[in-house]
Amino acid sequence: MQPVTYRGRFAPSPNGPLHFGSLVAATASYLDARAHQGEWWIRIDDIDPPRVVPGATDAILRTLEGFGFQWHGVVFQSQRHALYQAAFEQLDVYPCYCSRREVFTRDPSGSYHGFCRMHSPLRRHKPPAWRLRLPYAADQFHDLIQGLQQCNCHHAPGEFVLKRADGVWGYHLACAVDEIEMGITHVIRGADLLYASFAQRQVIHGLKRPPPAYGHHPLVLNREGIKLSKRARAQPIDPKQASRQLWHALDVLGQQPPAELKSAPMQTLWQWAIQHYHRAAIPPVQARTYDFGTA
Ligand code: GLU
Repeated sequence: MQPVTYRGRFAPSPNGPLHFGSLVAATASYLDARAHQGEWWIRIDDIDPPRVVPGATDAILRTLEGFGFQWHGVVFQSQRHALYQAAFEQLDVYPCYCSRREVFTRDPSGSYHGFCRMHSPLRRHKPPAWRLRLPYAADQFHDLIQGLQQCNCHHAPGEFVLKRADGVWGYHLACAVDEIEMGITHVIRGADLLYASFAQRQVIHGLKRPPPAYGHHPLVLNREGIKLSKRARAQPIDPKQASRQLWHALDVLGQQPPAELKSAPMQTLWQWAIQHYHRAAIPPVQARTYDFGTA
């Protein structure tokens, strides 16, 4: 793709309908792109076939359309195997024969610290997973929303899997390669993916390419303090309620939309939101409790 000064993206997984937490993520990346005269792309994260719910991609795109989002194009991870393979071949990887249980027994967080890299593996009868030899341990970056972020990557995320034993590409490999190949300049997404950003920066560094800028907005927690997610059965968002739900998404993002816009036509709300977008107003916290019951 042609280089541009700003190209953002929203990357839903097609494993269910969009909920209010997804609307916040879509809104944050969209506003940041539009307010900077940038492009906004959709990437469908359908890399793991058993997790794909039939019809979910269409439903997601229809819902986004119903909420007034406009995008430059849609990219499907399931159609990009050749790019992932080419990147994989450039990276410093090693085979790992450890079972999930062995990994978690050694470190309950699931971080991998190079067992198969250091001990020549004896169990070669089964296909291995492939892990990344981390190009560097200490990493830091300036998060556009959360400020300075630092990580000792050996500790966590550790030496993560780039290609699973069943041949499925690891999420960090696919995501990092997509940011590079799509020419993404800004990744605005939820704070649950902060550690994913450190992992993906390692892949990008291993490929000797410059990383995009990252910004992580606060996650929405329900009244019980649980993150809104498909797994926690968060309510799907409804384009019939677009203005009201969008208003609440702007509110979560600290944009202080005027109360009278709650019932304004959606296009009026978007116009206001793009014109008044203020990245620095997004609370630099990792999560916010929000009474989405009224959203
Ligand atoms: N598809 C993943 C998710 O929905 C990743 C999103 C992203 O990288 O922005 O959590």
